[in-house]
Amino acid sequence: MEKVRLQKYMADAGVASRRKSEDLIAKGHVKVNGKLITEMGVKVDNHDRIEVDGVPMEEEKKRYILMYKPRGVISAVSDDKDRKVVTDLLEDDVRERVYPIGRLDYDTSGLLLLTNDGDFANHLMHPRYHVDKTYIAKVEGILTTEEIRKLENGIKLKGYTTSKAKVRVMSKDKKKNSSIVRMVIHEGHNHQVKNMFDAVGHKVEKLSRESYDFLTLDGLVSGQYRELTRLEVATLK
Ligand code: URA
Repeated sequence: MEKVRLQKYMADAGVASRRKSEDLIAKGHVKVNGKLITEMGVKVDNHDRIEVDGVPMEEEKKRYILMYKPRGVISAVSDDKDRKVVTDLLEDDVRERVYPIGRLDYDTSGLLLLTNDGDFANHLMHPRYHVDKTYIAKVEGILTTEEIRKLENGIKLKGYTTSKAKVRVMSKDKKKNSSIVRMVIHEGHNHQVKNMFDAVGHKVEKLSRESYDFLTLDGLVSGQYRELTRLEVATLK
């Protein structure tokens, strides 16, 4: 293994994001081979012994959490505006430094994975790793057949064209002028679902992610989480 910058090594191992890792280093939380490091630029590989707050990095157990994220919570480990973040919902049974794999918007609820396994997170977030993600959206208005066809075939958004999606109108309320739509996509661009509906003239009023590949929210209520089984982890890898 080639030596890499300490903050990258920590981020890849899932200790924290690269920026947060830089913070941990600068604030004196990190030792390399017993020596406190506070400057950036130190390079390490897996022969080096790295401790964060006295805990050797390799001793941290790998955790894989499936969370039912509520609305009004940030998909991050910290927030500069001090809003609630998903890791605030974890109890004492998860002491490891897990972080979300990808993100759901602040006002989106649903299935979110968290881990401290950097390889696992990188694998799932890689654009080549295409898994179906199912969203349920409450949108303004009633969709026409033409609009549904556009959503299904791909829509030109800022910087990219969406690939094929599955779209099914579950219900429509003509009086309230709104519809419930189920959409399956396998990409994960920022605000993708909202932007897709916007592009065909239907504002998303509420959004929830119901499934991620074969994983669902079954058995969980909003704010709850569970550990993935070994088989689930192995299947996703
Ligand atoms: N698409 C969105 O627009 N928001 C999300 O949170 C997830 C997918």
